[in-house]
Amino acid sequence: MMARRSADNSPPPAPEPLGSPVFDAHTHLDAMAHRAGVPADPAFVSEVMAQARAVGVVAAVTVGDTVDSSRWCVAAAQAHPSVYAAVAVHPTEVDGLDDAGYAELERLAADPRVVAVGETGLDYYWDRTAPADQQEHFRRHIDLAKRVGKPLMIHDRDAHQDVLQILASEGAPDTVVFHAFSGDAAMARECAEAGYVMSFPGVVTFRNAPGLRAAAAVAPRELVLVETDAPFLTPHPYRGRPNSPRLLPLTVRGLAAAMGLEVDELSAAVRATGERVFGLAG
Ligand SMILES: [Zn+2]
Repeated sequence: MMARRSADNSPPPAPEPLGSPVFDAHTHLDAMAHRAGVPADPAFVSEVMAQARAVGVVAAVTVGDTVDSSRWCVAAAQAHPSVYAAVAVHPTEVDGLDDAGYAELERLAADPRVVAVGETGLDYYWDRTAPADQQEHFRRHIDLAKRVGKPLMIHDRDAHQDVLQILASEGAPDTVVFHAFSGDAAMARECAEAGYVMSFPGVVTFRNAPGLRAAAAVAPRELVLVETDAPFLTPHPYRGRPNSPRLLPLTVRGLAAAMGLEVDELSAAVRATGERVFGLAG
């Protein structure tokens, strides 16, 4: 979850379709509808996913950031075969999250359409919630992921060292995915050594993100995913306008260039990784 950057709400045009299909590893379909000012209903989800499929984005993980949003994501995934869900409370939303909230998250996480516990982690940028509180809730989400046996999907904003340290001290779940990976090359190497998956957002296409492209250049292709984080993090040249899974080809092309791969090679790799870590199909 990121803040919007501008007031231009017109949807960018569809990019040229990919030759080899991919999955959007992290998106917020409910927040997309809210930003567009339309109901977050099954017709909206169907339209978004049809537009995505038309350019080769054949499935998406829609990610909860509150208990209510997580419940919405599970219902969307149950209703649409190309949509999968992740459930958690975002680190800037954890104030007031109590045992009853965790019980509800655990009930939701057990649903077969839920492929990860996330997004959870630490956000020292927005500074809405005390770091010590965020850390305690991050530990509870790690424990939840381990108990339900699903991957942990991490939000890490300006908190790299604390995220890595807490994962190490708690004992990481079998599968850890850094959503909107924002580390440098050294952190990418550290994640690769630990077997953590790095999911790259549209930021990798931004002119002012050479450090992220350097990280992508050293990330092993079998540990890489791509994501939109829609409606946020819209890739170049549409930065600030509403993002959507159908814009993912722009990020795939930028990431492939940064990694020194052909676009189809990267597409095949991220598709295989999505199948392996989340069980996605499409
Ligand atoms: Zn997100």
